[in-house]
Amino acid sequence: MTATTGHRRNFVAPPGSDPAADSGWTESPARQGFFTDTSICIGCKACEVACKEWNALPADGMDLLGSSYDNTGALGATTWRHVAFIEQRRPAVSLGMPGFDRPASAGPAGAAAPAPDGAAASARGQAAEPLGAPVGDPVEEFRWLMSSDVCKHCTQAGCLDVCPTGSLFRSEFGTVVVQDDICNGCGYCVPACPFGVIDRRENGAATIATGPTPEISGLHPERAKDGIAQKCTLCYDRLDAGATPACAQACPTQSIQFGDVDELRERAAARLTALQGAGVGEARLYGADPADGVGGTGAMFLLLDEPEVYGLPPDPVVPTRDLPAMWRQAALAAGALLGGAALSFLGRRR
Ligand code: SF4
Ligand code: SF4
Ligand code: SF4
Repeated sequence: MTATTGHRRNFVAPPGSDPAADSGWTESPARQGFFTDTSICIGCKACEVACKEWNALPADGMDLLGSSYDNTGALGATTWRHVAFIEQRRPAVSLGMPGFDRPASAGPAGAAAPAPDGAAASARGQAAEPLGAPVGDPVEEFRWLMSSDVCKHCTQAGCLDVCPTGSLFRSEFGTVVVQDDICNGCGYCVPACPFGVIDRRENGAATIATGPTPEISGLHPERAKDGIAQKCTLCYDRLDAGATPACAQACPTQSIQFGDVDELRERAAARLTALQGAGVGEARLYGADPADGVGGTGAMFLLLDEPEVYGLPPDPVVPTRDLPAMWRQAALAAGALLGGAALSFLGRRR
């Protein structure tokens, strides 16, 4: 790898281009990222805990939100992975599942529906009340959607584009990383993220002294500063040592898969085809399209409903996308003004 600053803005890079090369890395490994398959997430939160443990992030408290079995609520300066628990009731059609009061020998009412495979059954959720309804009757279905959210490590990253200090930089792995000791806490990056990921730390609550092997993880005491911006680094320190990010390492179901972004895109497309073939028509990919408003992401997702259901923007756009055109227009307008002023000055002298 040949190191350069990695600070070059990337809002002029064409969508889907190699972000490490666009940022000045002349030799770099394949772009690294995540594919999070929410259809096999069990909501254990091992990823959240592993992230906090590795990065010495303070706890968020044990208070449940009241709206679900979630206690963290959203991504933030101390929550770099967040597992959303979405409890969903929706209209469905009875598959003729037997009710609890029905004798086992009675079997399901009406014709038996074809047995879906495990993934498809879990993705469809459980047919709820009333159990024992005849096949085809309208029923209400209940399901839990669980999804482990994280920084998207965008190809065109608004946070990185607006950072005035170079604290946010593009790593040789194509990821977006914050340097704690350079961040001045200006907060420009916070509204520049179309996903609401990056956040400023309040009260400097990190306990660096008790963190895991700081000499290996590269934790910096500056991380304890008030107001500095924080988010997932895609475990830059672990990648540098050839290790898997802590969250992917801890996930027991392989809902979080880590690897080369191009290969992950293929894996995600194959999984989508398999799920849709099993009847999960609402399955879709998020972040896997290099032609989207952020040039595709380094962290893509397989969702089982609309992105809004998971709290994700349906059509994210990097806010700096139109800056080059705006500067061109401003330069043209300034040129026209100067030209007009010069002409009127010359006209007066005659
Ligand atoms: S998701 Fe937000 S914080 Fe993460 S790289 Fe993209 S713009 Fe930056
Ligand atoms: S890659 Fe590392 S920093 Fe990012 S969410 Fe996973 S464990 Fe946390
Ligand atoms: S560790 Fe894996 S299965 Fe558990 S909540 Fe995180 S993504 Fe889901």
